[in-house]
Amino acid sequence: MLTFDEEIKPNASALGMMRTSTIDDVPGMQLQQARVTASIIPPTPEKTVSTGRIRVEDKRIINCNADVNQLVPFKYKWAWEKYLSACANHWMPQEVNMTADIALWKSDKLSDDERRLIKRNLGFFTTADSLAANNIVLGTYRHISNPECRQFLLRQAFEEAIHTHAYQYIVESLGLDDGEIFNMYHEVDSIRAKDEFLLPFIDVLTNPAFKTGTPQADQALLRSLIVFACIMEGLFFYVGFVQILALGRQNKMTGAAEQYQYILRDESMHLNFGVDVINQIKMENPHLWTSEFREEIRVLFQKGVELEYAYAEDTMPRGVLGLNATMFKEYLRFIANRRCQQIGVDILYPGATNPFPWMAEMIDLKKEKNFFETRVTEYQTGGALSWD
Ligand code: FE
Repeated sequence: MLTFDEEIKPNASALGMMRTSTIDDVPGMQLQQARVTASIIPPTPEKTVSTGRIRVEDKRIINCNADVNQLVPFKYKWAWEKYLSACANHWMPQEVNMTADIALWKSDKLSDDERRLIKRNLGFFTTADSLAANNIVLGTYRHISNPECRQFLLRQAFEEAIHTHAYQYIVESLGLDDGEIFNMYHEVDSIRAKDEFLLPFIDVLTNPAFKTGTPQADQALLRSLIVFACIMEGLFFYVGFVQILALGRQNKMTGAAEQYQYILRDESMHLNFGVDVINQIKMENPHLWTSEFREEIRVLFQKGVELEYAYAEDTMPRGVLGLNATMFKEYLRFIANRRCQQIGVDILYPGATNPFPWMAEMIDLKKEKNFFETRVTEYQTGGALSWD
């Protein structure tokens, strides 16, 4: 049986909460304090506190027994560097001027098709980034057992909140019916179908009973990571991004387009981080990457392309802004191939080409470029400050 001292010490020292110097001299107070401490601090879970120093070679992305509270020594420098880059790209929606957008929305200079496209676009994105945030915070984060990757995920979760904020800011600025926009994920079939496709892959990770550590569970995690990074953030966002950025290129809805440009930059970082995590898990757990599993992933990509194409058709029943749904069929196939290549799956659509080469420039924001002539688009803060 444990002595009283043994029972309370590990908890107290682990949490740094025992400061007894002020009560040492008061008879009886130390014991009383210790009893109170013991009753309010739950037993420390074995996995979160280790006794020895962390060795780099012990770190793993999943199923790691090393202490997740110690950021260094770094093993996955790429995760830390992406965290720093994401912080340097910090932006806030309300700093973008929406005056021109509001004037245009109130004028008769937007066609019905353009208005439909804008509203459905917001209808998808207002809930998509909330789904993304919940997926990270309630699901993925728990199962990634590496502190530098978790550091990026914390930043990513905040960025998803900023994106939801941005869409809400656009809806509010334009005076749109928020009940209509925020319910589109229930009420518009092409949006609901995308969300319904995603939900099972989120639910598996947010289920409190889900635990990694078996090949089956680890494959379930890997599958969800691929769906989230490569199909949701890497495919389902792209019809919407092209549409709003195409508006901006025609000098329409420039405030919204500027925000989408920042969101696109953030999302391409999320995608690249997700791809690195997926590839690292594959390297550390080659037994998960079976030919059956890869084939299953290809089927999911195919389904993702179909759903996103249906969304393109629904948001653009006719040609608009020089875009039409058929161009998106080619574009989505091109992107799906690219995602497959990034994670080492055989491509699905040989020969698919990119009808929107200008999108690459949109992701790569440079100081001298100001596509929508709103302001300097380079947005570097804290992480880039110089104290000279
Ligand atoms: Fe994201």
